[in-house]
Amino acid sequence: MTEATVIDGKAIAAGLRGRVTEAAAILRERHRITAGLAAILVGDDSASQLYVRNKSRACAEVGIASFEHRLPGDCGVSTIVELVARLDGDDRVDGILVQLPLPHAAKDVDGFHPMNVGHLWRGEPGLVPCTPQGILLLLRSVHADLSGVEAVVLGRSQIVGRPIAALLLAADCTVTVVHSKTRDAAAICRRADILVAAIGRPAAVMADWIKPGATVIDVGINRVPVADRPPRLVGDVDFDGARRVAGAITQVPGGVGPMTIACLLRNTLLAACRRRGLPDPLPLQA
Ligand code: NAP
Repeated sequence: MTEATVIDGKAIAAGLRGRVTEAAAILRERHRITAGLAAILVGDDSASQLYVRNKSRACAEVGIASFEHRLPGDCGVSTIVELVARLDGDDRVDGILVQLPLPHAAKDVDGFHPMNVGHLWRGEPGLVPCTPQGILLLLRSVHADLSGVEAVVLGRSQIVGRPIAALLLAADCTVTVVHSKTRDAAAICRRADILVAAIGRPAAVMADWIKPGATVIDVGINRVPVADRPPRLVGDVDFDGARRVAGAITQVPGGVGPMTIACLLRNTLLAACRRRGLPDPLPLQA
């Protein structure tokens, strides 16, 4: 029995980071611009601290400046708003990461601002959320042409399901979105040439949900307890079963995850160029 090609997110993300590094260097040398990313951390949650630290390290590796701002957990909304306003006015800053309130759309490198959500659904240029953008790049590594392809997205969250559905639609796929109220999700999934699973349910998508030869992108990150050991990371797809049916598949970890931060770095560079009227340094294939 043949097994699915494993789409190597780590390698594709490393390639994108390499291109971001080159484009950032050109921006510095030709235009004397160093792209900058500011992260606002409210409170002292250790997971968030690690997240911000990893992003700062990733910025340093590609030649993007990073600025970390810490605010006490009990600070008022007005303090956060003031800081966002100050960073919006800071010319060294091209991207701002914060939960809420959202920065000005031009610096919204998370792509969650209603203005950017609007651009995405209208098929216009904007800043696209990082995980869905990464998923599209993984799909393009195995599908030269997405036009007319039947795509099913499992999940309709604001950060994954809805934006990836919009991107696939813009790429001329025929898109169906499945959610918790959908009847017979398995039957709908079996129609899919491309199946994107983003539901946060460990190994819920079984081999018999998958059309033979389909491309399966597993977005889920679930921690499953293991006796006397640290929890195991698994996706939303039963990988061992699915790889016997699928044509191509991503793994967890090492699939979608590495693409998210690579796309955040790319977004920071895009924001740096767009707000200064420079052409996109890393245009993606249409
Ligand atoms: P979320 O906000 O919890 O949304 C889950 C979505 O799945 C909802 O739309 C929900 O439907 C739907 N759903 C839940 N159970 C379902 C079922 N049994 N059948 C069909 N649909 C079902 O999750 P999220 O933020 O999109 O994240 C999804 C997963 O991706 C999580 O495991 C998360 O950790 C992971 N993730 C990974 C990355 C990465 O970089 N790799 C980034 C973001 C998220 P309703 O709308 O009807 O409730």
